[in-house]
Amino acid sequence: MSEQESTQGSLMVIGAHAGDAENMAGGVVLKHTRAGYRATIVHMTLGEAGHSSLPPERYALQRQEEVKESARLMGAGVVWLPYRDGELPADEEAKLRVCDLIRKEKPDLILTHWKGSIHKDHTATHQIVQDAVFYAALPSIRRELPAHRVRGIYYPENWEDMDGWQADIYLDVSDIWDEYLDMLRSHELMRGGISSFRYLDYYDALGTLRGCLGGFRKAAAIMAPGSWVRRIKGFWNLR
Ligand SMILES: [Zn+2]
Repeated sequence: MSEQESTQGSLMVIGAHAGDAENMAGGVVLKHTRAGYRATIVHMTLGEAGHSSLPPERYALQRQEEVKESARLMGAGVVWLPYRDGELPADEEAKLRVCDLIRKEKPDLILTHWKGSIHKDHTATHQIVQDAVFYAALPSIRRELPAHRVRGIYYPENWEDMDGWQADIYLDVSDIWDEYLDMLRSHELMRGGISSFRYLDYYDALGTLRGCLGGFRKAAAIMAPGSWVRRIKGFWNLR
C-alpha cells in the first residue's frame, strides 16, 4: 500500500467557520499534501454572518466557492456542515455527525481549535471534536461505519484562541509559504474589507515570528495534547 492510500499521516482539520481551518492550519495541510499525505478540511459553519453588505444566505454561497477553491489549492478534500454561524451547538447530534466523518475519512491526526477562545463557535467546535474522536474510536457506539481511532488531536495557532495556548511544536513551512498566502487570498475575508482584523498581515507576520523562534525562515506553531507522553530509554535521549 502506498503512503497515499494509507491512512498513516493523513490529516483532518476541523474549523468553526470557513477560513479558520485555512488560516490556522493551511501551512500544515500544504506540507502534508505536498508530501503525498491525504488531508480533509471540515467547516462546522460557513461563517456566513460576518459580511457588512451581503445577507447571510448570499455570503454563504460565496463562502462555498471560497472553501472549494482554497481546498483545491491545498490539494485537500472539503466538507461543510449545515450549522449556522454563531449558533453552533455542542450537542450529541453534532458530535455524532463529526464522529461519522472521522469514521469515513479515517484521519490519523486531527487539528482543531484550542478551547481558550474568544468565540463561542470555536469553543463549541473544540468540545464537539473531543467527544467525536472518543465516539469514533468506541466500537460500542454503533453507527453505519466501524470504529476508527485517531492518533492525536493538536491545536494550531489562531488569533482568537490564544487563552492558555502554547507553542509546543514548530513546523518548518518555509517552502510552501507563498502557496499558503495565495491560498488565503482566495477568501475575501482574508484579503480585507469585511473585517477590521488584518488577517493576511497577521498570519504572514506570525509565520515570521514563529520562524524566528523555531529556527526556520517561516514556521507554523502547534500545541500538543495535554496528555503528551514521551517514552524514552534514557534521559540523555530526551528531545
Ligand atoms: Zn472563526
